[in-house]
Amino acid sequence: MQTVANRPFRVVIVGGGIGGLTAAVALHQRGFEVEVYERSSKLEEVGAGLQVGPNGVKVIRALGLWDQFDKIAFQPVNQVSITWDDASLRHRTPLKETATRDYGAPYTTLHRAHLHGLLRDALPAGAIHLNANCVGATSTGRGAVARFADGSEVEADAVIGADGIRSAIRAQLFGADSPRFTEQMCWRCMVPMERVPTRVGPGLSVELPHGDYSGWIGPNGHVICYPIGDGSVLNIFAGHVTDQWVEESWSAPSSQEELLAAYEGWNEALLGMFRNVQHVYKWGIYDRDPIPQWTKGRVTLLGDAAHPTMPTLAQGGNMAIEDGYVLGRSLDRHRDDIHAALKAYVDERQPRTARVTLQSRQQFANNRKVPPPPFLDRTWIFTHDVTKEPEAQLA
Ligand SMILES: Cc1cc2nc3c(=O)[nH]c(=O)nc-3n(C[C@H](O)[C@H](O)[C@H](O)COP(=O)(O)OP(=O)(O)OC[C@H]3O[C@@H](n4cnc5c(N)ncnc54)[C@H](O)[C@@H]3O)c2cc1C
Repeated sequence: MQTVANRPFRVVIVGGGIGGLTAAVALHQRGFEVEVYERSSKLEEVGAGLQVGPNGVKVIRALGLWDQFDKIAFQPVNQVSITWDDASLRHRTPLKETATRDYGAPYTTLHRAHLHGLLRDALPAGAIHLNANCVGATSTGRGAVARFADGSEVEADAVIGADGIRSAIRAQLFGADSPRFTEQMCWRCMVPMERVPTRVGPGLSVELPHGDYSGWIGPNGHVICYPIGDGSVLNIFAGHVTDQWVEESWSAPSSQEELLAAYEGWNEALLGMFRNVQHVYKWGIYDRDPIPQWTKGRVTLLGDAAHPTMPTLAQGGNMAIEDGYVLGRSLDRHRDDIHAALKAYVDERQPRTARVTLQSRQQFANNRKVPPPPFLDRTWIFTHDVTKEPEAQLA
């Protein structure tokens, strides 16, 4: 594939997270020359579990990665909602049996590092550059340039800012502003499955088989637990309402003691699991208001850099995965007109991601109500298939 300058069409992606790597794989598969520049000294994903919903799985399938993905992902059997204090059952909804039928693909949970590794391995050797701290990117007449803290520069036909919630590229394109603290923080940890109770609630009346996904909901937080990988480990996301996030960083090491103190008075079965966790980290949850435009010239944004989203619908990463696929298709479709390509990309992605960001906030607000209303319907998120041409998506 040649550009007007008669050289291969080259795309530089800043940020080697899930969004940047998905975009890189999608572009590579369509014949673009693609390079990823990542600030960290090694490629890794912080935090343990990730839920990849049917909409994200459709992208994985379209990239030809399903067989390998299926080996590293778990499909929870039921989604169970439990009250925080006496562990009584609010509802139990089949998930594994219905997801493909109702949404067109399975609902999956896996270790972030495994997904990251899968995407990385789908790229050519040498495509990822580490220790590359980007400080900004600008369009030139016929190309775009990304600049790095060490003074180096790289040129490309397009630069993609996939550099996360504190994106340097976003700050340069649209001005520096701070993400919004959402009054939610969370602890993230894992527990071996053999330490997880299979019966909880009044008189141990509620069955909690090890393959289920459970959400404990209370007035000042909710705790989401799901198996990952081969099902031998339970991933825990313990969300907590607070206006007290004082750490400078948005993630920090924590401890079992701190976790237990925050959930004092919650059901003993849950606290028993907490007593068996190791390596507890805490996170402040931030997001930003949706913005109408992500592009300036030949530089655009993707994933959390464009639309950081609360994890209450577990969709931030899925949206980044979808973005990556759509970016690849748009550049491919409009390969002679990069401005048309980036416009098509943002036109397709902005409305959907904005709606997901705002509904994630709404879900958080709902979780705080007593009693909490039913979980927001995510059918419109799950049934969507970005791998279909935009016209077919409307059908
Ligand atoms: C607690 C929690 C739970 C979540 N659970 C889920 C879930 O279950 N499902 C889901 O879909 N989403 C979930 N999310 C959201 C999801 O993690 C993010 O939306 C997703 O990681 C965004 O991917 P990204 O590639 O856009 O950004 P990131 O994952 O933030 O990656 C950005 C990359 O850019 C690099 N970088 C940053 N700055 C620079 C720079 N200046 N130069 C070069 N490189 C740079 C970073 O090192 C990083 O590797 C959760 C989020 C949180 C906080």
